[in-house]
Amino acid sequence: MKLDATDLRYITSDEFRVLTAVEMGSKNHEVVPTSLIAQISGLRNGGVNKLIGNLAKRNLVSKMQNSKYDGYRLTYGGYDYLAMRALSKRDSMYSVGNQIGVGKESDIYIVANSEGEEMVLKLHRLGRVSFRAIKEKRDYLGKRKSASWMYMSRLAAQKEWAFMKVLYDNGFPVPKPIDQARHCILMGYIDAYPLRQVAELPSPGRLYSKLMDLIVRFANAGLIHGDFNEFNILVLRETGEPIVIDFPQMVSTSHENAEWYFNRDVECIRTFFRRRYQYESVLYPKFSRVLRECPSGEEFRLDVMVAASGFGNKEMKVLEEYINANKDREEESNEVDSSEETDGDEGESEEDGEGNFDDDHDIQKGDEKLEEDAVGDRNGQSLR
Ligand code: ADP
Ligand code: MG
Repeated sequence: MKLDATDLRYITSDEFRVLTAVEMGSKNHEVVPTSLIAQISGLRNGGVNKLIGNLAKRNLVSKMQNSKYDGYRLTYGGYDYLAMRALSKRDSMYSVGNQIGVGKESDIYIVANSEGEEMVLKLHRLGRVSFRAIKEKRDYLGKRKSASWMYMSRLAAQKEWAFMKVLYDNGFPVPKPIDQARHCILMGYIDAYPLRQVAELPSPGRLYSKLMDLIVRFANAGLIHGDFNEFNILVLRETGEPIVIDFPQMVSTSHENAEWYFNRDVECIRTFFRRRYQYESVLYPKFSRVLRECPSGEEFRLDVMVAASGFGNKEMKVLEEYINANKDREEESNEVDSSEETDGDEGESEEDGEGNFDDDHDIQKGDEKLEEDAVGDRNGQSLR
């Protein structure tokens, strides 16, 4: 979806009131009745109709014909608008540039602040895929009537923000967290290639070791990434150092399935290195061992720090259920074609992963061969 920065400048304050009223009304109405919008915004009924018509023309809200009443829904565009306006009011961002990523559940844009410094805006889009089906299947919403995409997307952003902050503050190689609003996160731009695009490495063993060390470092701090794969590892263009991104699915090492998540992260890296670089090592971390040998004990529990930071267990649980339900559905729909690509190298050694993972090769600066990838130009568009 294209972000339209022009609206940020040209919306009137009354239109903004109405848009905010639609957002507030959505907390307990799937379709917000026009009368409620008028009531919340504190504007007279007739006036509201015109204003809301303007908003609908710009696709910030959309009109819904309900059997009982007519009303409006906030669109993705409307929610994006509210978030970006908040970020721009706080002077966190000033202009929007090109889209650099479209995930299934996020859109990624290059943006800039008023000094022209480039940053990355990640807009979470949970519920874009098959949200209704999940809603029917699961009962995790408690008293909430509708698990709106808005609510889930905001939770994902809040969680990602909480983790990114605590990781960054504790010296982990993650993007710099800059600001968060609604379903959006603003973070430092990383000049890097996703590992997925790195066709060859002069010394795969060295990066492999670093990644395994990172998994262990996470676990020593009470955390498991949960989606540690070639898409979520960026390799710095200049130094070849890995930067880890994408945290909405992180779990604590105290999670009941922690070992399973941990092993899956480890396996993702092993499989990728085997297939892509024909690199295989008998050394890889074991969960029980990592926990046993965790040097820091209680005082360095980032999972506990995140919980204390306001993103609590309840929110964590709601999001986790959503993510799992979504995964189940994906697997169901993938089952038909999942038989492709087996490596036939299953009988590998289960030797103990003792010692460190370093070998002494060097990544030569900027020497990775890359598959073709067009990184778009970044013509910014001013917001104000
Ligand atoms: P998703 O949840 O959709 O997987 P990610 O956070 O993994 O979203 O980001 C998707 C893609 O956007 C990444 O693979 C990467 O190419 C790019 N990207 C994300 N964050 C940054 C960043 N801080 N700097 C540069 N590129 C980024
Ligand atoms: Mg990702």
